[in-house]
Amino acid sequence: MTNSRHTCRICNTTDKHPIFVGREMMFGTREEFEYFQCNTCGCLQLTDIPKNLGKYYPSDYTPHALPEAAKQGRNWFTRIMQKQRCRTALFGKHYKVNSILKLIVDLPSALYGSPNEVSSVDHLISKVGLKSFDDPILDVGCGIYSNWLASLEELGFTELLGVDPLIPGDQNYGGIRIAMSELCDVSGKFSLITLHHSLEHISNQEATLIQIEKHLAPDGICVIRIPIIPSRVWEEYGTNWVELDTPRHLYLHSLKSLNLLAKNAGLEVFDIQYDTTAFEFYGSEMYSRDIPLTDKNSPWINASSTLFSKEEMNDFKVEANIVNQSGQAGRAAFFLRKALV
Ligand SMILES: [Zn+2]
Repeated sequence: MTNSRHTCRICNTTDKHPIFVGREMMFGTREEFEYFQCNTCGCLQLTDIPKNLGKYYPSDYTPHALPEAAKQGRNWFTRIMQKQRCRTALFGKHYKVNSILKLIVDLPSALYGSPNEVSSVDHLISKVGLKSFDDPILDVGCGIYSNWLASLEELGFTELLGVDPLIPGDQNYGGIRIAMSELCDVSGKFSLITLHHSLEHISNQEATLIQIEKHLAPDGICVIRIPIIPSRVWEEYGTNWVELDTPRHLYLHSLKSLNLLAKNAGLEVFDIQYDTTAFEFYGSEMYSRDIPLTDKNSPWINASSTLFSKEEMNDFKVEANIVNQSGQAGRAAFFLRKALV
């Protein structure tokens, strides 16, 4: 293993850190980029952050595309009935009304359909203790369309804002506003701030966490979902680990480095839940076979992909559940609140 002298951008340790070379494999340009892993905090980070990061987010980059679902609406009757049903399901209110309504309308599909239980909408809402549909919620780095905010809107939440500086302009759909701006330009305090796989794309980690602390309501919660290192797949596949996502992922945190980052911003991590999926396994296997994630026969974009058998895809799901249980998963959700002073 090669070592090279660098200063960690998380803990400031200057040392000869181990070097890794990753390849761009989402689109398959195979351009190489160097990462180093801090000897002290364990954070794996891109050695030199490209000046023009936008180049690596082409127009067909999935999080920056508006899905058909965003253009469709529900009729007002269904919307009102489902909101009442969600009021009972999420906040335990109006049980009598619910017993009648459930004969008329189903709960909205947004309550289900997550690839794993930890990242399901109802789990996150109860975990962070939201109490009302009027609780203000901010999604940071959500791209042009936030599945998460769209799900919350479907349930009945009304104060929903997304922010992303890399989108082409402000967006409005349903009751959701997505602002093309930096987090520091957002006003207001939020009961819940989420970063669903966005923190790893952001250059200035400490400034971002400081802004999150500033925007949290006194009893607010922040949920940060990121790739996490080490993981069993990282140990097995190395730089073919799909979560490296060279060069878009600028930081791959360890538990230690994320905790340190939070502490330096006046926040504390009070819970961690591992939430990887089959994606970590099949994506890494694809990269080890030199197949880009967006290959036409990739299960990531093609539901009828034949790249892996049904048995293999099932095995990947089983493996994901095993590493989530054992704490060796390559994805985790961190729950943060303001640190007590
Ligand atoms: Zn460090």
